[in-house]
Amino acid sequence: MATSEADVDELIDDLIASYPLQSTDPVTFLGEQFDRGLAWLHFPVGAGGLGLSPADQLHALRRLLKAGAPSAGMRNIIGYGMVAPTIVSHGTDEQKSRFLRPLFTGEEIWCQLFSEPGAGSDVAGLAMRAERDGDEWILTGQKVWTTLAHMAAYGLIIARTNPDVPKHKGITAFLVDMHAPGVDVRPLFQVTGEAEFNECFFHEVRVPDSRRLGGVGEGWGVSITTLMNERVSIGGTVPPRNSGLIGEAVKIWKSRWADRTDAEAIAVRSDLMRAWVRNEVGRLTNWRASDLRRAGTPGPEGSVAKLAFAEENQRTSELCVNLMGSDGMLYGSNYPLLRPSESAMSGGDMRKAFLRMRANSIEGGTSEVMRNIIGERVLGLAGEPRNDKDVAWKDVPKS
Ligand SMILES: Cc1cc2nc3c(=O)[nH]c(=O)nc-3n(C[C@H](O)[C@H](O)[C@H](O)COP(=O)(O)OP(=O)(O)OC[C@H]3O[C@@H](n4cnc5c(N)ncnc54)[C@H](O)[C@@H]3O)c2cc1C
Repeated sequence: MATSEADVDELIDDLIASYPLQSTDPVTFLGEQFDRGLAWLHFPVGAGGLGLSPADQLHALRRLLKAGAPSAGMRNIIGYGMVAPTIVSHGTDEQKSRFLRPLFTGEEIWCQLFSEPGAGSDVAGLAMRAERDGDEWILTGQKVWTTLAHMAAYGLIIARTNPDVPKHKGITAFLVDMHAPGVDVRPLFQVTGEAEFNECFFHEVRVPDSRRLGGVGEGWGVSITTLMNERVSIGGTVPPRNSGLIGEAVKIWKSRWADRTDAEAIAVRSDLMRAWVRNEVGRLTNWRASDLRRAGTPGPEGSVAKLAFAEENQRTSELCVNLMGSDGMLYGSNYPLLRPSESAMSGGDMRKAFLRMRANSIEGGTSEVMRNIIGERVLGLAGEPRNDKDVAWKDVPKS
């Protein structure tokens, strides 16, 4: 049993020696990584982990990526960072052994079906119905903004199972087969011209009770686990120094500005340095937070990281297009209406990144909602008025 960083290093060395990266296909490598407890080191033994800390996980991830190992997170972004910790916290043993391994290898892509046309920030107000029919549940309703639903084998969905109690109390979570009869997935195109996300219609979709995640009426607690992990997964990563958007900004500056010494160039260099320092502070803050975090659901520090990430990405991608001068206005797309591949959510062209980063302050909870959470849960300020807290969901006025 590994207990120290040195033990973890030994396990990783052995994995790479037994399954050389050049000659092993990614699914086999990731499967073996899972079986050896090196998928999520902070998960329990048998669930892809070794019962270690999130800091150990970060260390292992860094070493594996540096060695060129395939990234389970890139292959299955929602499954890896949000669904897996939710299944570990709330799933039955059968659900853990059925779903976690193929999720990690990327053989089964996952999506998260929370938002609805009338329930985004106030997701607890959702209207998707789940009605019990013997050993099954029947799902009817609509979800929206569902990232990767078009590629997903399964989705984590929350639905209303009891409209007669206050909104947070009548929700139940399920693991739904995205290819079941009655599921209809339609693309929604974004400002980049690509459709990462979808609207999903559920018409009398049957889900066995064995695919219920957590207790009946306990779906709000389940979804909090997902949302807290989502915030850390979006905003709490620790990329290598000088990588990502700030790395791109430095590259553009070197190719277009570094030789100039006029007043404009000096001002531009100051802008770049300020951005570099802000990005580095964010990176180191996330590093410290992940070192301090114990295993289990992350706390409100995830909201701090998510807010900072959204704001900084928007500022830094704007700096990139500014550094490009008039070329920054020429996004090389004529709105192609593409379905992106798995890697489409990565940056690439900075003009595309600039457009894509607009979504950062909406996805995973808006920046306004993050500020509310920080105000209430970190600073202890007075909460927002919540008039519907004790009212049965069916009696809450809806727009
Ligand atoms: C790229 C992208 C990917 C997404 N992927 C998924 C996904 O995979 N699965 C999924 O379920 N959802 C997904 N979403 C949806 C996302 O979670 C919601 O868009 C988000 O929670 C906001 O909800 P809304 O769009 O309904 O806006 P609304 O909640 O209607 O908000 C509208 C505006 O009002 C503000 N506002 C709302 N309530 C408050 C308040 N209490 N205090 C202050 N201001 C407030 C908001 O900040 C916002 O500016 C995705 C969104 C995007 C952009």
